[in-house]
Amino acid sequence: MPSTRTLSGTLTLGADPSQPVAVDVDTFSLIERTRRAAMGLALCWSLAFASLFIPVVHFVAPPVLLLAGPIAFVVRFLTREALRQVRGVCPRCRAERVLPASGAPKPERNVFCEGCGNQLTLRL
Ligand SMILES: [Zn+2]
Repeated sequence: MPSTRTLSGTLTLGADPSQPVAVDVDTFSLIERTRRAAMGLALCWSLAFASLFIPVVHFVAPPVLLLAGPIAFVVRFLTREALRQVRGVCPRCRAERVLPASGAPKPERNVFCEGCGNQLTLRL
């Protein structure tokens, strides 16, 4: 299990007043990063093997996926932190939400509100 820490940030959308939110960020240990990287590699190479049996696709997909596997391994191994979720009030629909988030924590990132369907700007 990755350890989770909570950051504070704000959600904004256009001219609506920004709302303070809590942002949960997963921090991965060396073992977890290695496990995540190996899973990415295994997934790419499994799909490469499975695509060998699909006509026409087997000309393109296996070499691309064989190359994508090590790239996925490196990218996932170097990922030390990832956003998990954003908890707070949506500036547009004004409802308390738990919004899924992904990717590395950056100063500014887009988050999708499932309630009102708007793309919100998350600032850390
Ligand atoms: Zn909303």
